[in-house]
Amino acid sequence: MANPGTPDNPLRVAVIGSGPAAFYATVDLLKDGGPEARVDMFDRLPTPFGLVRAGVAPDHPKIKNVIKIYEKAAANPNFRFFGNVTVGSDISHADLARSYHAVIYGVGAQTDRHMGIPGEDLPGSHPATAFVAWYNAHPDFADEQFNLDVERAVIIGNGNVAMDVARMLSVSREQISKTDVADHAIEPLTSSSLKEVLVVGRRGPAQAAFTNPELLELPELTVADVHVDPAEAALDELSQRQLDEGLLDKTRRRNVEILQEYAAAASSGRDKRISLRFLLSPEEIRGNGRVEEIVLARNELYRDGDGQIRARETGEHETVPCGLVLRSIGYRGVPIEGVPFDEWKGTIPNDRGMVLNTESQEHIPGLYAVGWIKRGPSGVIGTNKRDAQETVAILLDELAEGRLPEPEEPNRDALDALIAERVPDLVTYAGWQAIDAAEVAAGEPQGRPRVKFATWDGLVGASRG
Ligand code: NAP
Repeated sequence: MANPGTPDNPLRVAVIGSGPAAFYATVDLLKDGGPEARVDMFDRLPTPFGLVRAGVAPDHPKIKNVIKIYEKAAANPNFRFFGNVTVGSDISHADLARSYHAVIYGVGAQTDRHMGIPGEDLPGSHPATAFVAWYNAHPDFADEQFNLDVERAVIIGNGNVAMDVARMLSVSREQISKTDVADHAIEPLTSSSLKEVLVVGRRGPAQAAFTNPELLELPELTVADVHVDPAEAALDELSQRQLDEGLLDKTRRRNVEILQEYAAAASSGRDKRISLRFLLSPEEIRGNGRVEEIVLARNELYRDGDGQIRARETGEHETVPCGLVLRSIGYRGVPIEGVPFDEWKGTIPNDRGMVLNTESQEHIPGLYAVGWIKRGPSGVIGTNKRDAQETVAILLDELAEGRLPEPEEPNRDALDALIAERVPDLVTYAGWQAIDAAEVAAGEPQGRPRVKFATWDGLVGASRG
């Protein structure tokens, strides 16, 4: 049979996930001038856009404008959205492989990494991923409880998620109430008794993973003073040498400058304080039935055999009283039944997006990955554009070379019937548009971009218009 990609025999692709990587892959697949293609996108949530909806901080509305690109792709008549469908339980990977020439996984990294220290599971110690999902109205997290009636919160990690979380713990009602933050989060976030948010990095200022705008906006978008201890802002010998020899990238050089400016600045006497601490690793969380304090081990930096600058303990410790610990040390992918998974990396094993058989290391024809489940949880939204382009270019090469498998089911009907049978609450793109319209309408009288539905029932109900 001739290669698919013609009006009579279109290329049929299932894209699993609906975040940036999944949508950029869709944009590329449906591009004018390419093969005739049909894209069916599946998401376990009734809503599309992944972390743009459930991860990007509410006080960063401009970042969410990227959705316009995805909406344009979704308006293509060759695109369909199957929301509220879980691949792995409602339908299996095998069901998809029977119906599509290619399946692209863009499911992101849906869980978090653990610190592996005693006390990590005490009440009051949470993954930052759960806190982010809660204030963004992810329906799995509507009932989560975070006790913010504590004087000090400690955030472990020095990435942009740690910055988002530090800001959200330090906002005023005025700052947050005009955003699309979950309704249920406004009161707890703005009437908490928090006096200090401590952000703890295990390495130094020159190794922090956050980026310059996120560091600069800490005092702008919050009601907190930003405090850095001058002794911790000063670079250790190894980092200073890197800086002097021009070996630090621009972002890190600027981070160091900003942190040293914060260290030199006088307090402006605000009620709250965000303290950025360095060279400290979490060692133990203690408390009688709930978090009461965290033990931090003082680190020094050394260069390992691969030339990487790493942290090691010096033997000194400090104990910090706190009532809340949020670990913000990275997201992690979760396996999907029937799809290879690398437990060590938390990703789908792949070569430039071509999914590999774990044993033979050979590419499984027709199976691809994009985004965080392909490369791990790194980069900004735009990183996923190049990432998806790489995968789709290979997919289209394989199509041209006749290397895509011919699916057993020659048309959409069998899969559509299966979904109709197994997912009575299917949410189509029109269903999402009904949710969107209802949320935007609810936000309008309050001067907010939207008021998000925060429960499964609310979302599914709204999808029916
Ligand atoms: P991240 O940037 O990888 O940062 C993780 C942090 O956790 C690092 O500082 C890391 O330190 C630290 N860490 C890891 N394991 C640790 C341990 N066992 N103990 C103590 N610290 C540990 O991850 P992220 O903040 O979750 O962000 C994920 C991605 O999303 C990033 O690419 C980020 O830029 C992006 N993002 C962007 C925005 C934005 O553009 N505004 C917002 C949110 C997220 P080491 O460096 O020492 O390993």
